[in-house]
Amino acid sequence: MFKNTIILYVGLLFLISYQLKAQDNIPKVTFNYNFIPFDRTCARITNVEIEETWIKELHENLDKFRQAWGALGPQLLAKTVQKTGRPFKQKELHAAMSLCDINSMSHPLLINMRRFLYTSTDNKPEFLDFFVALVFHELMHIYVYDIRSEIGTTPLLEKYQREKISVINHLHLVALIKNAYIQLGMEPFLEKLIEEDSKLGPIYARSWEIVNELEDYRHFIDELKLKN
Ligand SMILES: [Zn+2]
Repeated sequence: MFKNTIILYVGLLFLISYQLKAQDNIPKVTFNYNFIPFDRTCARITNVEIEETWIKELHENLDKFRQAWGALGPQLLAKTVQKTGRPFKQKELHAAMSLCDINSMSHPLLINMRRFLYTSTDNKPEFLDFFVALVFHELMHIYVYDIRSEIGTTPLLEKYQREKISVINHLHLVALIKNAYIQLGMEPFLEKLIEEDSKLGPIYARSWEIVNELEDYRHFIDELKLKN
């Protein structure tokens, strides 16, 4: 009995220290929405209006989105750094939310929230898991960009060098996304994500085709792993 208690205690300590270590290696991600200055300027430039109701709904639901990220996002990031052995360079990242008619991006980190609001989608917002997946996608751009700056080119990048630059920039990225969802046992959601992503445009469809069908995704991840 005593021995079992000790084993349990040591196991718990190990688990806690392991989790603390994982938190050290991934950034804390914060979110906020401000109409002024970015969205106001963006709406003027694009000449596409941002409606008051959207702004109100987003402000009222900021915590819902933060919680959705908090429940899954850090786990996705942790599975990623565990797999590659490379911690994130950033300890904290701020994601600016936008309602302007522009794509989400990683540099600067900007998340377009239109798809996730009732008022901006005719009451058909996408599920929160897709919001988390979008943030994860943009964070993976930052992560892969930093790793590639360090390691330079790789055999698989050479092999696919004739692809469009946007496809090349998504190859290791979608491999990491696939890894993280599989590690968390979320294969059914992964299937939906690949399907939805592929509808977004030929860049995403081609990236998933290469990583999912033409190659073994694990080979892309092997290229990112920290070599001892
Ligand atoms: Zn992307």
